[in-house]
Amino acid sequence: MKNIGKIILGILVISAVAYRLSAPRNKQESKKPKNIILLIGDGMGLSEASASYFFKDSVPNFDRFTTIGLIKTSAADALVCDSAASATAYATGVDTYNGAIGVDMQKKPVPTIIEKIIPMDISTGIVTTSSVMHATPASFYAHAASRKSYQDIAAFLPTSKIDFIAGGGTEFLDKDKREDARDLYKEFENNGYEVETNSLPNKTTEKKQAIFLAEDGMDKMLEGRGDFLPNATKMALDKLSKNKNGFFLMVEGAQIDWGGHDNDTDYLITELLDFDKTIGVALDFAAKNAETLIIVTADHETGGFTLSTDDGNYNKIKPTFSTGGHSATMVPIFAKGPGEENFGGIYKNTALFQKMMDIFK
Ligand code: MG
Ligand code: ZN
Repeated sequence: MKNIGKIILGILVISAVAYRLSAPRNKQESKKPKNIILLIGDGMGLSEASASYFFKDSVPNFDRFTTIGLIKTSAADALVCDSAASATAYATGVDTYNGAIGVDMQKKPVPTIIEKIIPMDISTGIVTTSSVMHATPASFYAHAASRKSYQDIAAFLPTSKIDFIAGGGTEFLDKDKREDARDLYKEFENNGYEVETNSLPNKTTEKKQAIFLAEDGMDKMLEGRGDFLPNATKMALDKLSKNKNGFFLMVEGAQIDWGGHDNDTDYLITELLDFDKTIGVALDFAAKNAETLIIVTADHETGGFTLSTDDGNYNKIKPTFSTGGHSATMVPIFAKGPGEENFGGIYKNTALFQKMMDIFK
């Protein structure tokens, strides 16, 4: 009898411990968020993200995340992915070919997360350091068989209903530079937009805002871009958070990829640290707005970037590159906020779309 008593007690203790382990640590974590901020570091593989720990004077904002996963980046037609197929996977959930902008393998348009949530009265925004017509942002609002159809992609913007748009791209909007001579600035105005092409305005307006501050991509950090990305992100959050129904904001650090293609460490690191600073803006916003989920990831890795030893000196890092193109390595995904537990693990790029849509439906 004594032994049976001990066994029963033992089972009770084990069950209690098992229950504690399986129960949510924090009730807040399992709640559904209202807002999503998706930050995409173009070309930001694990070595690039790791570089923030070695090349920033303070602790990088990556350190503030509590859920981490890995994304398998291949495209439908290629082991190594480009930004168009990847962003289309994130924006639509469809596995497609390199170069595809919001279209499937048959080049048929597929609805994007932005197109799906606008009818639910959710606010949307896009901020990037490339042109707004470049592959990553374009895949969230446009449909084109080729990423190079910048003029066609630009023509989607005035009727996109996106509340806040900021980046470069005037050369694809200017009437005298367009083959069809359409006046897209006029079309923006007719669709309730206030357009700005000189500098980042210092406050948001009641109208939808479209801000284009470069002909094509924005200046590099090394050329004095300054705080455009963190400041435009702050502005977007200020504007979009007025909607009580929630918002979706996509922010892109586009030129981490361009530094990788150039095999230029200074270019890559300065863009990465600008992106890290912008992640800080998003996390600070979420700290005051608890119904916000922050997701940080990349579309693919660029440059085969590695934090190598400097000729065998294990106390010195000499970054090296193995390619001028992209690589097939998995990319990290970081999440923080209500629902973050759904973003850990290893999964394909197409799975991110449904995970985000589950929050909005
Ligand atoms: Mg990009
Ligand atoms: Zn690239």
